[in-house]
Amino acid sequence: MTQNKQTQYDDNNIFAKMLKGEIPYHKVYEDDKTLAFMDIMPQAKGHVLVIPKQKAIDLVDLEPEYAAAVLMTAKKVMQAQRQVFEREGIIQMQLNGSQAGQTVFHYHIHLIPSNIHELSVHAANQADSDELAKMAEQLAAAIDS
Ligand code: AMP
Repeated sequence: MTQNKQTQYDDNNIFAKMLKGEIPYHKVYEDDKTLAFMDIMPQAKGHVLVIPKQKAIDLVDLEPEYAAAVLMTAKKVMQAQRQVFEREGIIQMQLNGSQAGQTVFHYHIHLIPSNIHELSVHAANQADSDELAKMAEQLAAAIDS
C-alpha cells in the first residue's frame, strides 16, 4: 500500500503547463521526449531540472523509452554544467512522493552543481530571472557546441 503518493496525474501541474506552453521558463535543452530548464528556486547556482514529455508522477510511472531519454538529456546537461561552471561535482537528485519532499508531481531529475553538504534549502528562494536566463543561454550553447 503506497502512502503519500499522488495517484492521479494533474494536467495543470506547473511542469505540465510548461510543456503546454502556458507558462514561461528558461529553456536549456529540448528534444521530442524531454525538456530541461533552470530551476526557479535553485539549491545552488546552475540548478537544472530535466523532465520527460510523459505524464509521469514519479519513477514508478516512467516508461522505459522516457526513462532512457531523461537520462540521456541529464548527461548532456551535466556535461554542459561541468563546462560552464568549471566544476566536476554535480548532484543528481530525484524525489518520489510528498513524504520524500516532492513538491511538483511530474517526474523530474534535479542536476545541481554543488556538494551534498552545501545545498541551500529546497524550493525556497527565487533566483534573479536575468541571471537564470544568462545561465540557460550558456548551458544551451555548451550543449550545442
Ligand atoms: P521537487 O520538490 O523535487 O518536486 O522539486 C520541484 C522543483 O521545481 C523545486 O526545486 C522548485 O524550485 C522547482 N520549481 C517550482 N516551480 C518552478 C517553476 N515555475 N520554474 C522552474 N522551477 C520550478
